[in-house]
Amino acid sequence: MTFDHTPHPTPTSPERLQEILASPGFGTHFTDHTSVIDWTAEGGWGDARVEPYGPISLDPAAAVLHYAQEIFEGMKAYRHADGGIYTFRPLENARRLNRSAVRMALPELPEELFIESLEELVSTDKAWVPDGDGEALYLRPFMFASEAFLGVRPANAVSYRVIASPAGNYFGGELKPVRIWVSRDYIRAAPGGTGAAKTGGNYAGSLAAQQQATAKGCDQVLFLDPLRENAIEELGGMNVFLVTADNRLITPALTGTILEGITRASVIQLAKDRGMQVEERQVTLEEWDAGITDGSITEAFACGTAAVITPIGELLDGERRIASAGTGEVTLSIREELLGIQTGTGEDRHGWMHRLA
Ligand SMILES: *Cc1c(COP(=O)(O)O)cnc(C)c1O
Repeated sequence: MTFDHTPHPTPTSPERLQEILASPGFGTHFTDHTSVIDWTAEGGWGDARVEPYGPISLDPAAAVLHYAQEIFEGMKAYRHADGGIYTFRPLENARRLNRSAVRMALPELPEELFIESLEELVSTDKAWVPDGDGEALYLRPFMFASEAFLGVRPANAVSYRVIASPAGNYFGGELKPVRIWVSRDYIRAAPGGTGAAKTGGNYAGSLAAQQQATAKGCDQVLFLDPLRENAIEELGGMNVFLVTADNRLITPALTGTILEGITRASVIQLAKDRGMQVEERQVTLEEWDAGITDGSITEAFACGTAAVITPIGELLDGERRIASAGTGEVTLSIREELLGIQTGTGEDRHGWMHRLA
């Protein structure tokens, strides 16, 4: 499929772009274009195009607005010293998008079309990729049911799009450990549910818990297992790791209620490469608490594309407070290694980087 390009009527001026890139923030400014591919049950995927960024005209009865038939991905593009724009493991995002699609009864998008949609957008809006420390162009592919129909069934018309937004450091400024609120009133996912799909509904369901966290002065929410065994699952949008004094990494196993983070998988690989033992298993709050107390657990961190790797400073579970050491050495070292690969300053042993433009 070849992408049709429409010239942009009013592109952002070079001066305005410089202003935006000087302090990009996160998810507030969007590039001049968007990649679009439409799907119908009769015709399949077609009409691939790069068009000017702007509001979408949607019928008020569009299924996504009523039944949330929607999925998305999140990735970053980095400007390397060779002038190229690279992204990290995009085929993994393509595959995960399709696993989410199957769960949400949306059509699967051929992997090569997914990659092409990124290449087309990033080469068109190449000037928007920032090159400051910790900065990148955040790419947001998403797919939604656009058919106007109020009956409950998978939609026969779907739209896939990619938007892009210059991104600074996710939690702003220096690497500071985050405070986490343990959600006791709400769970994120249950067996057989949609927890392993990257779908908006999981986020909608996490917002009330996030409100509680914010009210308690915390940055993020930690969700526990749905069976009330006090096992940790993940944050609203990041996976969790514990580091032990004897150089092991512990992270909750993927049991269908946790999102399979690509950062998570990459951290596991990098840890194994350096000879660390990685345990993917059930881990409870009690084990975390006891480990901090007796010194067997030395660090905790969260990971995901947006914030890469962020140390967890403390955990608030009602009256109980579980405090980790500030920013641990292992956390910092894995973070540096991963960022090195992504930004092109470190060796890409696993061939994870893909040149987009
Ligand atoms: C996207 C996401 C993650 C992190 O996945 P990455 O591929 O590492 O960015 C973790 N948890 C949830 C719920 C997510 O939606």
